[in-house]
Amino acid sequence: MIVMKFGGSSVANALRMHNAADLVENAKHAQPCVVLSAMGKTTDALFAAAQDAVSAVLEAALGRVEAVFAMATTTTTELLRNPTPTVVALHAMRTDVETLLRGVALLRELTPRTRDAIVAHGERIATLVFAALLAERGLPVAHLDARLVMRTDETHGAATPLRPILRDLVQQHLLPQLRAGQIVVTQGYVGATTTGATTTLGRGGSDWSAALLGEAIAAEEVQIWTDVEGVLTADPRLVADARPIPVLSPAEAAELAAFGAKVLHPATIQPAVDACIPVTVRHTLRPHGAFTTIDPRLRTRERGGIAALACRGPVTVLTMTSTRMLAASGYLANLFAAFGQLGICVDLVATAEVSVTCTVEPEAPIERLTKALAGFATIDVAEGRAIVAAVGEGLRRSPGLLARAVTALHPINPEVVCFGGNDRNLSFVVRLAEVGSVMNRLHAEFFGQAARASAPVQEAS
Ligand code: ASP
Ligand code: MG
Repeated sequence: MIVMKFGGSSVANALRMHNAADLVENAKHAQPCVVLSAMGKTTDALFAAAQDAVSAVLEAALGRVEAVFAMATTTTTELLRNPTPTVVALHAMRTDVETLLRGVALLRELTPRTRDAIVAHGERIATLVFAALLAERGLPVAHLDARLVMRTDETHGAATPLRPILRDLVQQHLLPQLRAGQIVVTQGYVGATTTGATTTLGRGGSDWSAALLGEAIAAEEVQIWTDVEGVLTADPRLVADARPIPVLSPAEAAELAAFGAKVLHPATIQPAVDACIPVTVRHTLRPHGAFTTIDPRLRTRERGGIAALACRGPVTVLTMTSTRMLAASGYLANLFAAFGQLGICVDLVATAEVSVTCTVEPEAPIERLTKALAGFATIDVAEGRAIVAAVGEGLRRSPGLLARAVTALHPINPEVVCFGGNDRNLSFVVRLAEVGSVMNRLHAEFFGQAARASAPVQEAS
């Protein structure tokens, strides 16, 4: 059994739906459970409609809903030989959404619960149309309302699934169909409370749904079908020859996500990671192209490869100097207590004999910090810096890696180097203006032609 999750762009129109259906059809022997996002920008439109309704611009709200359903209806008539039953069902849904919006406009009140009921229609439209498409192709389909299985708490808009209950409900309502050879089609993002109120898991929540369902059915794989070829070795806007990473550990993915790299949010795939299920990120339009596997079994990179580069900036570098630091105990505690009192987050830290260097957000209240530390330490401030990080399991144990990286950077001198905070991150602080050059130098060294010839073996162990 596998989970196949398609994001909004992968089901945005008739052509994309056909592509997605091809992929499902080709995978039918793997007993797929299909999880869909809302088509294109439908969710945004429904949120905006709800907001319009409560702001007493009902006409605008209804206009948005009309556009959403017109798009879905056009898609349906383009897709299906016999669209009538689906078009009728869409019409009934539209009436429901309109009724909800009129209620909101009348009461001038939009509760999180009502908002969820409205926006969940996006995913419900997508699965209705997609299930009809699979059925017309002669495939055995079970269209499953996610609210039957995705039991959550009552935090509307950001509900937390109740995993043990979810597992039981999946046993009852989903597994029998998969075992009977049916392709299950259900909504991501949507859930329901014990009393049956519709909930949503938070924006972008369908990946989480996919991982949760993957865990509940003990899937062999959770496939996230989207519009990128997996996770890339670097931001392609900075490094032209960035390419997909074949395999990442969950911790590497989390490390990259912390740098703002375009990668699945670590929390969303946690259920799959807990169940040791690989999650793959694939491109819907290039199904035979490269993709990334986030493999919970990957613990180390043999011969210490770097999985990817990431960067973040601007950051401000603070260097605090005090002769009191010399062999004094409690110095760092006192120093960082001042940061804590001012709510300043410390990111990278490096220490020397009488000074401490750290990076902070550019918005940090540095004047107040300087005052707070007056008489204790002097602060040197360097703005407009950035952090460039190389991420890979087992980095620290990789022979010669630091030397290679520093040599590749020459003549750029990193202002701070952090290595060894954990075993999968080597970070450099450089000037913001140098980031592009630094990223390209490192990328050429570790992912370029020469590196490729002696490519580190990336093994799951
Ligand atoms: N449709 C929802 C959203 O746009 C959920 C998702 O796409 O994952 O946030
Ligand atoms: Mg989406």
